[in-house]
Amino acid sequence: MEEPHIVIVPSPGMGHMIPLVEFAKLLVSRFNFSVSLMIPTSTQPTKAQTSFLNALPPSISHTFLPAVDPALLPDGVAHEVTIHHTLVYSLPSLRAALSELAHRARVVALVTDLFGTAYFDVARELGILPYMYFTTNAMCLLFLLNLPPLDKTVSCEYPAMPNPLVLPGCVPLYGKDFPDPCMDRNDESYGVVLYHVKRYVLSEGIFVNTFFDLERGAVRALRTEDRSCPRVYPVGPVIQSGQGGESDGSSECLSWLDRQPTGSVLFVSFGSGGTLSKRQLNELAIGLEKSGQRFLWVVRSPNDHSSNASFFTAQSQDDALGFLPHGYLDRIKDRGLLVPSWAPQIKILSHGSTGGFLTHCGWNSVLESIINGVPLIAWPLYAEQRMNAVMLNQGLKVALRPNANGRGLYEADEIARVVKELMKGKEGKGALRRMKEVSDLAKKAISEDGDSSKLLAEVAHQWSHSKLRFTK
Ligand code: UDP
Repeated sequence: MEEPHIVIVPSPGMGHMIPLVEFAKLLVSRFNFSVSLMIPTSTQPTKAQTSFLNALPPSISHTFLPAVDPALLPDGVAHEVTIHHTLVYSLPSLRAALSELAHRARVVALVTDLFGTAYFDVARELGILPYMYFTTNAMCLLFLLNLPPLDKTVSCEYPAMPNPLVLPGCVPLYGKDFPDPCMDRNDESYGVVLYHVKRYVLSEGIFVNTFFDLERGAVRALRTEDRSCPRVYPVGPVIQSGQGGESDGSSECLSWLDRQPTGSVLFVSFGSGGTLSKRQLNELAIGLEKSGQRFLWVVRSPNDHSSNASFFTAQSQDDALGFLPHGYLDRIKDRGLLVPSWAPQIKILSHGSTGGFLTHCGWNSVLESIINGVPLIAWPLYAEQRMNAVMLNQGLKVALRPNANGRGLYEADEIARVVKELMKGKEGKGALRRMKEVSDLAKKAISEDGDSSKLLAEVAHQWSHSKLRFTK
């Protein structure tokens, strides 16, 4: 029988594309499947996107669906809303591309992510099995599946709930740490999330980028408790296996890291789109300087209105280094390396000189740190990152957290304190020890007979033997 062909449709944003592409690579390398990425977008492809996609093996092809006219997209809305509308406006072009492909290849499954549920119906129409790839963790999936009942029973805004939500097997979660769209139930982003969550049951199965030993309680709850939920497959950690060539700025970062002592460098990065306010950027700069520790910092120009201003571009709006305190670069030049906008994160995290990671707690970053056994400072900014920070700090105990002042600002002295504690203190040593244990479990999960590998092989087997064909 002809080898199965899988279509993968990521939501806009590198944070969505990277994990889905990594999943595609697994399907190709382990099972010899071929994959077509169909990418909805409303912007021109960025340099980071094109160099990432051009480096893929030939059995993973990619097509950008015709860009949605930005004039059709609402202004000044949460990025979840922009993503939702982009995907909905891309439906006709996705249908056309999928149908054309299904005429010439044995397309057995379509895999999309948490905002792509509108594509489930198109897939079913064409006799293709729809799956979801949940790019964050099991606790978040469990939370979202519990959101419709919560929406019915809670009458106030979630941050005003007096008691934490206790999900089976998870750390208690206060409303203030719920994902961004749940902060204001009147906001369109909340409606968007509820709409999609209610449709998760329409998928054939849900892959989750986590592993059993990391989230035993949540995974057990997802796989056993709710029979109406599609089958859940923890197949992670699925992380980037390599990054582009020299053009990604690797050589400068890596040769700088080569010159630093083992485990001495704090890597500071807020994911593909995280931005800080001017004031916060300044406090961070001074805090890192005051800590006396070595650091490699991916600096983005500040934004006083949004914590994810670079989400769709992964690029700074202005010259990022121009916003640093006067004379800063000179003062830190013996201990710090500053990289504007984008750095080869995997290579940095796997370098022996890197001993800590100050992260916004985006789930890809967390998994990349876990695989490399690098302990964290949790500095959540947007999406479900506060929830991740609670899990990492209170549940897994692999992350330290700075305390914000009354206005939500992390002050320089507090940043310096937590950085020193992670790199030199007792708490930091505990987090490192625990992170190394978690790292070993992660490697075991994706080894040949690990839990995650076995579950993925189970689905691949079903796909290989799937009789469903395009019949129209
Ligand atoms: N990334 C990178 N270099 C950067 C910033 C980010 O390679 O300078 C990669 C990072 O390794 C991760 C992804 O971009 O794979 C960011 O995903 P994450 O879930 O951590 O955060 P998001 O960008 O979705 O908020």
